[in-house]
Amino acid sequence: MDLNDDELLRYSRQIMLPQIGIQGQQKILKSKVLLFGAGGLGSPIAMYLVASGVGELTIVDPDTVDLTNLQRQILHGTKDVGKDKVISAKQTLVDINSQTNVQIFNEILTGERLEEQIKRSNVVVDATDNFQSRFAINAACVKAKTALITGAAIRFEGQVSVFDMQGSSACYQCLFPDVGSNQDELEESCAETGILGSVTGLIGSIQATEVIKLVTNIGQTLSNRLLLIDALSMEWHSVKIKKDPKCVTCSP
Ligand SMILES: [Zn+2]
Repeated sequence: MDLNDDELLRYSRQIMLPQIGIQGQQKILKSKVLLFGAGGLGSPIAMYLVASGVGELTIVDPDTVDLTNLQRQILHGTKDVGKDKVISAKQTLVDINSQTNVQIFNEILTGERLEEQIKRSNVVVDATDNFQSRFAINAACVKAKTALITGAAIRFEGQVSVFDMQGSSACYQCLFPDVGSNQDELEESCAETGILGSVTGLIGSIQATEVIKLVTNIGQTLSNRLLLIDALSMEWHSVKIKKDPKCVTCSP
């Protein structure tokens, strides 16, 4: 696939990076990314991926835009309050770059339909805000061996991890061996606890960066590492994630 003049210009600032180049850009243009969540994390993820030229972005989100979302969910504007998030998201994304094929699902995907979408994607990005969705997406990625990039943000804190699902890769469930019965206690929502909008932007931008690295196969990803960021003290550190041999999702 040769790049035309418009593409060479549009993507010139990333093509000039030696790690990406024309070949890397071609990989980005051919990539299929599946994104769960068009909220605080999903906004910068979707906007940066579409701007960088991903070939296909499928966005799954069942919610509608609420006035309280606008402080951080920059895909959506004041005029979008009350609209389906995926509709509002698509309008913003087409305006940024109409070359990307944006597919939308205004529902929660489960079972075979979830597995089918994950199987046809190169990379899956989890930008949801609840454990039930996270565990279901993780289990489907383990089954399909599709790389998963998870992110979460609350208050001034955030975390990102990557599971490539190859060989002895851990999975998201390995991080939470005991979650199940006390899911609700662990789950803190932005509605109850609060979140600084720019912190979701920070975490989502890291997730988008990891997508581009995975798709172009450059650098060292956060594979089997958990990056923890405290924006209040601006301390960043990462810890290794070990595969849990008793994991209910990924152990044989
Ligand atoms: Zn696991």
